[in-house]
Amino acid sequence: MLIARSLLIELNDKRARCDRCGALGTIARATYDMPRPSVLRFCRDCWPTERRDRIDRYREESRARMSAGGAPTAPPAPAPLGLESCSWSDVVDFLEEMLAADALTSPTAASVADSYVACADLMDGPIPDVVQRFIGRHSSGESGRPE
Ligand SMILES: [Zn+2]
Repeated sequence: MLIARSLLIELNDKRARCDRCGALGTIARATYDMPRPSVLRFCRDCWPTERRDRIDRYREESRARMSAGGAPTAPPAPAPLGLESCSWSDVVDFLEEMLAADALTSPTAASVADSYVACADLMDGPIPDVVQRFIGRHSSGESGRPE
């Protein structure tokens, strides 16, 4: 999971209200194309639960559709999920999944680590230890961060 500054600037919206609890200031959004285009925004407190719930629901709907096979009564495909945030918790989830599967090899790991260094100031909160260790192990030292 590479992160990009332009997206993070968009996601960290201090004037938006959380669609779950109404708090001012959001760090994440869920976008849907179906049934109609919509964007929901979430604060730092609501996001981890909101994200997990939406991923679980998506997997459940996908499973239900798969198990119905090609039957005419099969439920529709779940709406594509667009989940984006400037939360380190998303990065930690991603890294734990990738590291467990041994799925990040250099130079990909270096690009990913460099993107975390370059964007750390736009992420929400301090860099978690697991991310810090990943950066220490894989960063090329060239963050490409604008001056
Ligand atoms: Zn909230």
